[in-house]
Amino acid sequence: MPRVLVVEDEPAIAESLGYALKRDGYDVVHAPTLAEAVVRLDDVEIVLLDLMLPDGSGFEVIGRARRVKSPPAIIVLSSRDDEADRVAALETGADDYVTKPFSPREVVARVRAVLRRAAPEKEKQGERVAAAMPLAVDEPSRRATVNGRPVDLTRVEFDLLACLLSAPGRVFTRAQLIDRVWGDGFAITDRTIDSHVKALRRKVADAGGDASLLETVRGVGYRVTDQPGS
Ligand code: CA
Repeated sequence: MPRVLVVEDEPAIAESLGYALKRDGYDVVHAPTLAEAVVRLDDVEIVLLDLMLPDGSGFEVIGRARRVKSPPAIIVLSSRDDEADRVAALETGADDYVTKPFSPREVVARVRAVLRRAAPEKEKQGERVAAAMPLAVDEPSRRATVNGRPVDLTRVEFDLLACLLSAPGRVFTRAQLIDRVWGDGFAITDRTIDSHVKALRRKVADAGGDASLLETVRGVGYRVTDQPGS
């Protein structure tokens, strides 16, 4: 079973997460400090990471995790009012976040989803996306389809959709989308992104698709959901 590193100094939270994860069959390692976390990074598949640790910032863990031989996935455990931290965490390499207070079952579900995304990516990324997704893009021909039916997109809409579909379920911040779609140095406002996404949703709906597949993650950005309706 995958091994989960729980980096959390609050004993009650660490304990309830550990309990829920073990019940689901995961191996659990607990690190209540930054110092203990960084030495465990190379033998775990995923890290649940509190950002406020007694001996430093969880961002340090994100940075270190990217440098180990097979980098673990990271889910940040964030406070409700730490919107800036959530955005920064995603931009420095975290895969997802959950907001405190959370239910341990919700966290276990996220762990499962992130590991599912991380694991089969090499062998069958295209296949998996095609099977799970009513939305699809073919990058070489720059054709997009909704339930197999072609849909006519602008360059920006196509690139936005392609970016979101490169990691279904993953949240992309607006800054990340600007980077991928327009490139560095473009002065694109958040509202510009929002209006392109709105147009994209309308075209998906007009083509008979479910516009709610393109999900707004409030205060953070967008994702293509891989579990519509959940
Ligand atoms: Ca803490």
